[in-house]
Amino acid sequence: MNKLVLPGDILPAREAIEMISGVDLGPPIEVPPIPTCANPANVSFDERALLNGEIKRLKKEKNVLILAHNYEPPDVQDAADFIGDSLHLAKIGRDSDADVLIEASVLFMNEILAVMKKPHQKVLAPSLKALCSLAAHADVNKVKAWKEAHPDGKVISYVNTYLDIKAISDICCASANAAKVIRYMAELYPESPLLFLPDVFLGYYAAKTLEKVGQTTDRLYLMMGACHVHEKITAHQVMRQRALHPDAAVVAHMECGCVSKCMTLLDQGLVTEEMMQLRSTWGMMEFLKKTPQKKIIVATTVTNIYPMSKVAPDKEFIPANPEARCAFMEQNTLRNLYESLRDMKHEITVDPELARQARIPIERMLAIQ
Ligand code: SF4
Repeated sequence: MNKLVLPGDILPAREAIEMISGVDLGPPIEVPPIPTCANPANVSFDERALLNGEIKRLKKEKNVLILAHNYEPPDVQDAADFIGDSLHLAKIGRDSDADVLIEASVLFMNEILAVMKKPHQKVLAPSLKALCSLAAHADVNKVKAWKEAHPDGKVISYVNTYLDIKAISDICCASANAAKVIRYMAELYPESPLLFLPDVFLGYYAAKTLEKVGQTTDRLYLMMGACHVHEKITAHQVMRQRALHPDAAVVAHMECGCVSKCMTLLDQGLVTEEMMQLRSTWGMMEFLKKTPQKKIIVATTVTNIYPMSKVAPDKEFIPANPEARCAFMEQNTLRNLYESLRDMKHEITVDPELARQARIPIERMLAIQ
């Protein structure tokens, strides 16, 4: 009889990869509806002008830095001082001296700011509903059990985890430096079991990264977790868009359900790197600046097309899955950004002992470019 594998379970990498299609990796938490005002078209011109004016005034008055993730609604991105992915926003937040750091993203990212902040700073979140289905898959008890079973094991946590997981990790990584972090840990600890969590698709990418540098994946373990948005971006959808637009290049995030198909096509030389790239959110922007291709099939959230079209206004963007939106990221709106600044509400504080422990793996992540 087949072993029952549940989301959050930890398996040897080969087994985990084989099990992907047999495990329900749907969201373990309720996905909230996207507020109507997350679409700027549903907010009147006058209200937007008023909110933007007030946000600017409060920013100056309270010495605020506004950060926004690429997956945020467009008007929230426009109100921010910086937009970027988790790694870049964490670095900008860490280096800022502003009195208030407000980040429109998801709460595990606000937690990072709360760990790294200077004593005089306050960290705010526009919405406390901005959770993450992927982070919710990471079960701290399962990680502790794995550590007990593998006393010399090393835990590599994706940034999409909460502080209790980071606190028992050896290092964190973001998609922008995942490959480097995995290689670094494999080389630093050549004999140790390695656990990569919580995204099994990014774990697949990690396994392939190790194989490419001649490292065995026999000692790699993966957690059965996934992002409910990226998991639904399938190989079938990407191939369909490629068939419809043969002149388009594909940029796909490594958390996507299409990752194994894309890597296989690349490895077998059936598609060139110029026409298919597996990249982090930040890496996608870098690719767009260089590629001569005019049409781009985008395998990540559709909200990421907004900053992409700013970086490369001459290109046409085709979503692989037009339904791919992160309802958690889009809980942040221009309205609640303003309200949070006005009332200084939704302050994110962290347990000092957890913060002390989590700071070490976070700093290690930030040190690896
Ligand atoms: S897109 Fe997925 S991984 Fe990213 S915040 Fe949303 S649920 Fe989490």
